[in-house]
Amino acid sequence: MSVIMKGTDVAKSMKEELARQAKSLKERGIIPCLSVIRVGARPDDLAYERGARKRMETTGIECRVTELPEDVSQEAFEQTFSRINEDMSVHGILLLRPLPKTLDEEPVRAMIDPLKDVDGMSPVNIAKVFSGDDTGFAPCTAEAVMEMLRYYGIDPQGRKATVLGRSMVVGRPLSMLLMKKNATVTVCHTRTDNLALECRNGQILAAAAGKAGLVTGDLVCEGAVVVDVGINVDSEGNLCGDVDFESVKRKASYISPVPGGVGSVTSSVLAKHVLISAGLR
Ligand code: NAD
Repeated sequence: MSVIMKGTDVAKSMKEELARQAKSLKERGIIPCLSVIRVGARPDDLAYERGARKRMETTGIECRVTELPEDVSQEAFEQTFSRINEDMSVHGILLLRPLPKTLDEEPVRAMIDPLKDVDGMSPVNIAKVFSGDDTGFAPCTAEAVMEMLRYYGIDPQGRKATVLGRSMVVGRPLSMLLMKKNATVTVCHTRTDNLALECRNGQILAAAAGKAGLVTGDLVCEGAVVVDVGINVDSEGNLCGDVDFESVKRKASYISPVPGGVGSVTSSVLAKHVLISAGLR
């Protein structure tokens, strides 16, 4: 029988401490504030924005949303970003990504104040995460996986961890966070020769490939901890992860569902980062 790792329980466990921190900041006259920047109105961006806004409100963090039209010019986009970046009342900036193909993300990644970079996109924070420096903000989703492991008492130390996916948003930073906790990490991607073998080696298997049903029971070793980061839509239009839940559940000791898994923790990590940033002012 595998334990279902419920993201909602993890988020609940973080809620009280986050609210306490927000209250203590307010007593010091600081109103913690997150600024969300959205270009266009993609349904997944809107869903993430709704979740983030709700989490900020329940925590006691002000949440402002700036919406830009999908056809915004690079110049106008950068000007808006710069204005928010310089606004002293803003402690964290969340840029919803990916951006439309007409926009280049690089200039704003270079521009963002590392202290406001609560989703770990600036070169400074990336370098910190990759050098094992805890003072940098990791991308929220990668850190949410670590929060899930922590809540369920799973210590990565000495374990073999396989990460499926090498993006800068999830796979790579997650592999660094796992290594920081002394796991022996293998990172897999589309060019990995024998994916099944690498996956079966993982005592912790984190799937962040964005491919529905990629991880089936035969790719998982007996007793593995399986964390599903993927968010996909299946052929029937339902939300699903990268993991075939039914077949993997029979072998895993722990398994996170989609929905109700990592995604539910991401916005709590975002709130945590905004509060850290506000506290450093
Ligand atoms: P991405 O497309 O940028 O990267 C996917 C990675 O997976 C790539 O490195 C690719 O090499 C690898 N990959 C793809 N197909 C593969 C295959 N068949 N075999 C081996 N490797 C394969 O995606 P991303 O931004 O890293 O996101 C990954 C998934 O996580 C997506 O489903 C995304 O929606 C989800 N996601 C979830 C959250 C959350 O809060 N839960 C946040 C961000 C992303």
